[in-house]
Amino acid sequence: MAGRNFLFVPGPTNVPDRIQRAMMVSMEDHRSPRFPQITHTIMAGLREVFRTQAGTPFIFPSSGTGCWEAALTNTLSPGDKVLAARFGQFSHLWIDMCERLGLDVQIVECEWGTGVPLQQYEEILKADTQHQIKAVLICHNETATGVTSDIAGVREALDEAAHPALLFVDCVSSLGCIDLRFDDWRIDMAVSGSQKGLMLPAGLGILCASPKALAMYPSSKLKRAYFDLPDMIQSNATGYFPYTPALPLMYGLIEALKMIREEGLDNVIARHHYLAEGVRAAVTQGWQLKLCAKEQRWHSDTVSAVMLPEGIAGTEVISRAYQRYNLSLGGGLSKVAGKLFRIGHLGDMNEIHLMAAINGAEMAMLDCGVTLQPGSGAAAAGHYWRTHEAPSGLCAMPEPREVPSNTPRPNTALATS
Ligand SMILES: *Cc1c(COP(=O)(O)O)cnc(C)c1O
Repeated sequence: MAGRNFLFVPGPTNVPDRIQRAMMVSMEDHRSPRFPQITHTIMAGLREVFRTQAGTPFIFPSSGTGCWEAALTNTLSPGDKVLAARFGQFSHLWIDMCERLGLDVQIVECEWGTGVPLQQYEEILKADTQHQIKAVLICHNETATGVTSDIAGVREALDEAAHPALLFVDCVSSLGCIDLRFDDWRIDMAVSGSQKGLMLPAGLGILCASPKALAMYPSSKLKRAYFDLPDMIQSNATGYFPYTPALPLMYGLIEALKMIREEGLDNVIARHHYLAEGVRAAVTQGWQLKLCAKEQRWHSDTVSAVMLPEGIAGTEVISRAYQRYNLSLGGGLSKVAGKLFRIGHLGDMNEIHLMAAINGAEMAMLDCGVTLQPGSGAAAAGHYWRTHEAPSGLCAMPEPREVPSNTPRPNTALATS
């Protein structure tokens, strides 16, 4: 098939060439004297993206799901009560894991397309005067529905209720894309993974733990072995790991963290918002379709879930996009299966790259019988991007380059030949 595949599932995301090259390394001894430098560089960089000084970052050779487990098993005991809202497939799966581990989950069922109900959380926490709830779980960015929840608001609800529960956040599809403040919001466990905003292949589970969360370990009775945090803390302190680390991913992570630092985390976040606004303009103003996210405050800057009109099968649109146009869109999961498709706009992305997704999705929808004005998606997105100031990461003009002194200038080369 000619041309490249356009990858717009909301994870794994596109891996920039720089990161691919950084990962192409020969294996080396993970017990060598130079290895600790790699570990320390990564941990310092992760503290920057989590915006933490107090937190301890961890990387596990796992996917994000592994760190859901690490967060729970290192802090809680069987039968402990946790509070969680269910409004999409990922919030559901974390709840399901809690139940399988023997936790008592107080589930707040929410309509899919909405986010954490702050008022209800505050009422529940205030009513829990015995402090039975040990942890509050939130999926920051529900990737299945394109909904971002207000973590600062949950912190306020906990404070309003003077409730001591731990605050656990799934930031798998928000870390390095959407504002997340580990220290300011006093998050206790933040769970992420390598293959979304960090622009790497899957294979690293990423976790950040507060001192308060780590202090729970001695009294927590859930079983853990591979995901034991003190084992990791002990090895990491000297720059090593309790087992063989995923070296290429670590080199890739160093490069990813460097790229985020070069652009500036605030600029990266602003870029995600600006790009997402263009996609939302395509969906709502261009195509006249609805997003799954019910209100503007829940709009996700990393993924847009586009509701299809009655009678149109989302699976057919996605299959047409893939088979005919080599475009990979995200499907509807579970409750919203077949009703929508998702465009991931996170990680290494710019306007023109996104235009491919917008035009491709539009062609696939037209082929599948959706009534819309051809070209309307690109027109609306283009209008948004042309009339709003672009964050610096998108328009940095390279400085005029000095010609390196060891390369002959064309005229000198001519003169000597
Ligand atoms: C992708 C994702 C996960 C699962 O991560 P894996 O790396 O696939 O285990 C969990 N939560 C959210 C919000 C996600 O987007």
